[in-house]
Amino acid sequence: MAEHPARLTVLAGPTADGKGTVSADLRVRYPEVWLSVSATTRSPRPGEVDGVHYHFLSPQRFEQMVANGEFLEHAVVHGRNSYGTPSRPVQEKLAAGQPALLEIDLQGARQVRETMPEARFVFLAPPSWEELLRRLVGRGTEDAEERERRLTSARVELAAAAEFDHTIVNDDVHRATDELVALMGCERSQPLTR
Ligand code: 5GP
Repeated sequence: MAEHPARLTVLAGPTADGKGTVSADLRVRYPEVWLSVSATTRSPRPGEVDGVHYHFLSPQRFEQMVANGEFLEHAVVHGRNSYGTPSRPVQEKLAAGQPALLEIDLQGARQVRETMPEARFVFLAPPSWEELLRRLVGRGTEDAEERERRLTSARVELAAAAEFDHTIVNDDVHRATDELVALMGCERSQPLTR
């Protein structure tokens, strides 16, 4: 039996708030914390590995999974690509008494709140709007049109912090990850490196 009741934690927040960086940090420093691998119809970025960072699916395969009811939640993010959390691995983790973590967008978090209100909802906030802008523009992986789309989403999403159980300010990635792990009840986990 797990010492802490297994609970789902949902980490969400505006685009470019650093969710991806926190996930990456978590994978390296807390490999024992189970993070759901989402499905997406977007193409892999350099360095992204199928099955590790995402399950990269064709739109047809994604739609098939939707039709089969295989997603815990799914959404079109930034008006472009589809993203979804495959249900089964999450249910299996929780059934095995182990905590599970989702890193998803706000629409997805709202869906999970409908179906699993007992989950813990954590909002990852950027340190400031200026920093968020800097990250959006600085990342350089999206074209101007895509950046504008993401900015519009971010404005709306920032206002959603009040819907969440906790807010973590992503002023320092290690600190933010440590706070998340502590919230998940894995506080006795020690980071591998700092
Ligand atoms: P990116 O394409 O930069 O990896 O992610 C874009 C956005 O999609 C991020 O805000 C991320 O949180 C969100 N996202 C990633 N996986 C999922 C998912 O399974 N479901 C939902 N709803 N959003 C996701």
